Amino acid sequence: MNTTSPLKDTTLRAMTNDGAFRVMTVRSTETVAAAIAAQGVAGATAALFGQLLTGAVLVRETMAPGLKVQCILASKTAGQLVADSLPKGITRGLVQMVEGITEFPVDRDDGALLVTRALPNGETHRGIVEPSADTRLSAWLTQYMLRSEQIATRIAVSCFMMGGHVVYAGGYILQELPEADPDAVMAQTEYLDNLEFIDHLLIENEADPQKLLDIVLKGHDYTLLAEDEIRFGCTCSEARLLGALATIGREDIESMVADGEVVEIDCDYCGTHYTIPPERLKTLLTQS
Ligand SMILES: [Zn+2]
Repeated sequence: MNTTSPLKDTTLRAMTNDGAFRVMTVRSTETVAAAIAAQGVAGATAALFGQLLTGAVLVRETMAPGLKVQCILASKTAGQLVADSLPKGITRGLVQMVEGITEFPVDRDDGALLVTRALPNGETHRGIVEPSADTRLSAWLTQYMLRSEQIATRIAVSCFMMGGHVVYAGGYILQELPEADPDAVMAQTEYLDNLEFIDHLLIENEADPQKLLDIVLKGHDYTLLAEDEIRFGCTCSEARLLGALATIGREDIESMVADGEVVEIDCDYCGTHYTIPPERLKTLLTQS
């Protein structure tokens, strides 16, 4: 959908010249549409998945460029939605529903939001947000930033769908910096509270991240710090899949090789099909 739009999926990062606020905006329309198509998910679950992917991109935008961010929306009864925001703007996700469940619960009173940040050195940091009265995903992401990062933050994400297609997806994140003047913070909070719903902002502005930035920072002089493209993509490879296969145990691999078995695997994230012949499976036995 929306293939005629000249806009690309982009993140923008800016800071107000008075040092009070940092803002990131994103247009994630095509990225989210591709991830939804790869997972073959529809309806309200698809829109929620689109919001989660957009949220993961925004959370990563607040951090160092080499970081990976994974957001998991888990439900005890329905399964989980997974969103990965990776370096270079690569974005992908997984929808893993419990058999027989077709719709992920929107009230989310039986689940949690888990956010994992992986540092380039392999260290990970995990934060968890438990159910609260406000069931909007934007509110959960905001809670995560408040509790885990201890930064006063406001996040708004949306994935607006019509006729089974993503029309617009995007959002913004606004953070108060330590130098922020309390009066300026109060005025900004009031302004954003009275702003139209993010759905309307995206529709009216084609989710243009520049227009969103101008709206969120209305009345402030700001400097644009960075502009980066995001896209749907995956990091899978035969080597990675072989690495995952190695965990099934040496005996099983030996018998598969002996039987001349060709392993056929699809990547859960992007659907890429891999055919692994026994001679390459055999390399797992020589490595260990
Ligand atoms: Zn893949």
